[in-house]
Amino acid sequence: MADQLIRATAADGGIRAVGVISTRLTEDARQRHTLSYVATAALGRAMASGLLLASSMKQPGSRVNLRVRSDGPLGGLLVDAGLDGSVRGYVIHPAVEIPPNARGKLDVGGAIGNGFLYVVRDVGYGYPYSSTVELVSGEIGDDVAHYLLTSEQTPSALLVGVFVGAEGVTAAGGLLLQVLPKVARDDSLVELLESRIGAIQGFTPLLQAGKTLPDILDSLLGDLGLQIFPEVQMVRYQCDCSFDRALGALKLFGVPELKDMIEKDKGAEATCHFCGEVYQADVAHLNQLIADLETELG
Ligand SMILES: [Zn+2]
Repeated sequence: MADQLIRATAADGGIRAVGVISTRLTEDARQRHTLSYVATAALGRAMASGLLLASSMKQPGSRVNLRVRSDGPLGGLLVDAGLDGSVRGYVIHPAVEIPPNARGKLDVGGAIGNGFLYVVRDVGYGYPYSSTVELVSGEIGDDVAHYLLTSEQTPSALLVGVFVGAEGVTAAGGLLLQVLPKVARDDSLVELLESRIGAIQGFTPLLQAGKTLPDILDSLLGDLGLQIFPEVQMVRYQCDCSFDRALGALKLFGVPELKDMIEKDKGAEATCHFCGEVYQADVAHLNQLIADLETELG
């Protein structure tokens, strides 16, 4: 199935459900960043989580950033996902590979290690809402669910997965089930969702068995008055970097450093962390930045 996101409700609007298939965009990220197996799984889970989180925002242009800073060999990662279905991200040490865990699975928790998850929700104006939680397991899904419960007070069951083999990513995506605030006190409902998510042996086996997102939601919530919204949203890896933004980033180095770049390198190169695009600034560009800075500083 093509990469896509669908939304649904159940229990008379008391449950919000979102499902995402992100196989191609995860493969896209793997190729762009030459990710190792475990880095593909970590970033793929985080990108699926970012898209699921962004899907609940209302204001057009809203985005969610998930940043993991941790002491494991991957060194952390960053994901930027939009309500519009665009997502991008990178891993600090993308080539690191570590042995599988005791269950024979890619050891994302071990590769991430201990640290913190920083979540920023930006609606496009005013101050972004940001929050930090300590990582629970480093497996990403648990960590994001923990964030939703403790920082957003929304009991949530989150399942994200990536299957990556010698041919690349063949299945990726996730599910988010949330008990909305009006019924969040209904502990039995929360327990029911957790037990149903817990009974699934991972998200990617369902995709590999040929299940569609509606099939999966129906098997989880079909007896609870599931209503799937007709709109199917496409999701994709997309970076909005540009030459102007690259110049903006160079400007932050300040006048002495820019003069140094002109002197030593006769220009500067800026590489976008998210997509790998390389932007070349020549001496004239750098001189313009210096002139801009000197005007601003008066
Ligand atoms: Zn870019």
